[in-house]
Amino acid sequence: MTSVSTNLEELSWIPRPRLLALRRLGIETTEDLLTHFPRRYEDRTEFPEFPREETDAPICLCGEVTKTSLRRFGGWKKIFEATLEESQPNALSEPLVCRWFNLHYVQKMIATGQRIVVFGRPRLRGKRICMEHPEFEVIENDEEMSIHFRRITPIYPATEGLSQRVLRSIIYRVLQEFPDPEWQPIAPASLVHGERSDAIRQIHFPGSWEERDVAREHLVLSEFFAMQMLIASRRFESSARAGQAHCGSGALVDKFLKALPFELTAAQRKVISEIRHDLAANYPMNRLLQGDVGSGKTVVAIVAMLLAVEAGYQAAFMAPTQILAEQHYEVLQRWLEPLGVRIALRTAARQEESGPLPLFALNTQTSGNTPVSDAGTVVSRARTFHERRREKKPSSPQNAATSTLQARAPQTLLADNEPQIILGTHALLYESVSFSNLGLAVIDEQHKFGVAQRARLTAREPAPDALVMTATPIPRTLTMTIYGDLDVSTIDEMPKNRGKIVTAVRETSKLGEVLSFLRTQLEKGRQLYVIYPLIDESDKLDAKAAAAEYERWRERLLPFRCELLHGRIPAPEKQQIMDRFRHGDTNALISTTVLEVGVDVPNATMMLIENAERFGLAQLHQLRGRIGRSEHKSYCILLSSNQTEETSTKLAVLERTTNGFEVAEADWELRGPGDLLGTAQSGLPGLKIGDLKRDATLMRHARAAAMSIFEMDPHLELPENQRFRRLIVEQQGQSFSHVS
Ligand code: ADP
Ligand code: MG
Repeated sequence: MTSVSTNLEELSWIPRPRLLALRRLGIETTEDLLTHFPRRYEDRTEFPEFPREETDAPICLCGEVTKTSLRRFGGWKKIFEATLEESQPNALSEPLVCRWFNLHYVQKMIATGQRIVVFGRPRLRGKRICMEHPEFEVIENDEEMSIHFRRITPIYPATEGLSQRVLRSIIYRVLQEFPDPEWQPIAPASLVHGERSDAIRQIHFPGSWEERDVAREHLVLSEFFAMQMLIASRRFESSARAGQAHCGSGALVDKFLKALPFELTAAQRKVISEIRHDLAANYPMNRLLQGDVGSGKTVVAIVAMLLAVEAGYQAAFMAPTQILAEQHYEVLQRWLEPLGVRIALRTAARQEESGPLPLFALNTQTSGNTPVSDAGTVVSRARTFHERRREKKPSSPQNAATSTLQARAPQTLLADNEPQIILGTHALLYESVSFSNLGLAVIDEQHKFGVAQRARLTAREPAPDALVMTATPIPRTLTMTIYGDLDVSTIDEMPKNRGKIVTAVRETSKLGEVLSFLRTQLEKGRQLYVIYPLIDESDKLDAKAAAAEYERWRERLLPFRCELLHGRIPAPEKQQIMDRFRHGDTNALISTTVLEVGVDVPNATMMLIENAERFGLAQLHQLRGRIGRSEHKSYCILLSSNQTEETSTKLAVLERTTNGFEVAEADWELRGPGDLLGTAQSGLPGLKIGDLKRDATLMRHARAAAMSIFEMDPHLELPENQRFRRLIVEQQGQSFSHVS
């Protein structure tokens, strides 16, 4: 008997080539097949009369092929034309000409005398009404009429070797053979209306548009609910881990803030108090700090780390690139060493204990891949600490929830030579880095990491507090999905006294004028970034192109000094280049997008982006965030040689606004949420039917339902909640394991 998990191979009536084509669509079981939802529908309940004019909306027509022809042009190119006439023509009926260019297979499928259904936009070509490249289906026999025609007909995402018609017939037959009770409900009855089995049936072959809408809502809610259950389970799982309070009295923070050359903004103070509250609590913090580029997240992270340090713990600060890690290292040394805080840097390229930066020490043992001298001791100390913990307080998953409520064993203090703050790149996750007493892990530019990496840094007992920071502002619906397992703090205010950023899109041909403008600013002592896109940072050819580009710029900008920065330059050299720029020794930096995240050089007030059309909006906004960091007015020039309507609309967004949330909304408007889900970053399975934007309200309902289940039964122990356990486990299998 057919069941949800029946492999389609077992249904003996599906021929092998079709099975293979289905597999290409990721369809192996009956459930895969029946959750391969229609991409759209055609109203074939009755076909409209043939149009006499152009229309913008695509329409679906049915007619008889009266003539076909194949014409060649330009040597090897071919146009295939089929002329259709209405089945019941009247005196005013016009034939419709369908045309396909260079589509070899179409001419094999269409012949005079056939009845076909076409879907496309009618266009006036000369005096004739034409459809170019319409989707089409040949009506083969009248028995099949009831499946494919005279109804609201589903159109599926298809693949080569599998026509709409074949796919539709297979789905139709499986639905007929499929016993209803097999469909277990996914969402609780309080969330969705009706049965899942009905919804599945009706989404494929709806009796009416209303029926389709009801079915769709059921399925979207179910899909969102399953996803939110996964998110909620992560959230509850991490908050049920044994945690500790990691918060000092704040005396160190007060000293730090007094010495800062600026006042915190109200928004920074607000998020600090939220973080402080979490640090002081004895459950593990899992907080996202969201704030536009340049809103001052680093200072907030430092305050959080100082609170942990003051309480006797170590703090880790992980950044996605070498350049950024080094920059943070320099800032922390400048600000924190006067306070007596011990800082260390660990990246794949460099492992530094605190002390002066050996900037030019290319070949000395402090740079390169020298292992951390005391890594061994750090490891063994960590072990004794854990052993001691085990003796005092056995902690197993079952009593984890209760044990967080009890007072914890007194802290082992750090030895005098151990770093209190450890900075680094991904290297912090591996190799010889061990923390003897990690209390807080901060992850900068979280969107550059994956869920798995976050989990890895905090996967220790007792759980350290985690603060993840991102400048990628995303619409709220996305936040509660992608970051749905985190508490969110938002910095919604920029520091005062920031100069404006003026953004302008210019044709590449206007480079001359742009250059003379940039020179006037360079003469005033301001600095410039020139950014150009590289397809692959690691590609040798591109590095060569970069070098050639650099030569051109060096000449253009004479007598001002330029340097070149790209991904293939060895890390210590990169660092020196950045430092010379930071100190004003170089006036311009010609760079690839290695600059994209985090870099902070306030005197750089100009950015010229070449081939701007090749970047996405979010990335352009990130890049632009490198300027506008001082009281001076800043200028961002987007050069583009290819001004299609699409690129002008895109680039105009940046001319219009510097607000990251507005950019994100516009990006969403233009592109959709893209592949944010189904990626390592979110650790969530992709969506089959729901639309994060259109169905935002449904997502909110689904989230509330999932949360309330976990609030009443955090470990899903009640009998009625057992099926949700399975739901979560299944999805974990499909998505990335979040503790790797
Ligand atoms: P982001 O949020 O993009 O990481 P940063 O933390 O790099 O931003 O801060 C950008 C710049 O603003 C830095 O030079 C930082 O020292 C400065 N800054 C941070 N907070 C304030 C503030 N309250 N007032 C003035 N300048 C600030
Ligand atoms: Mg930053």
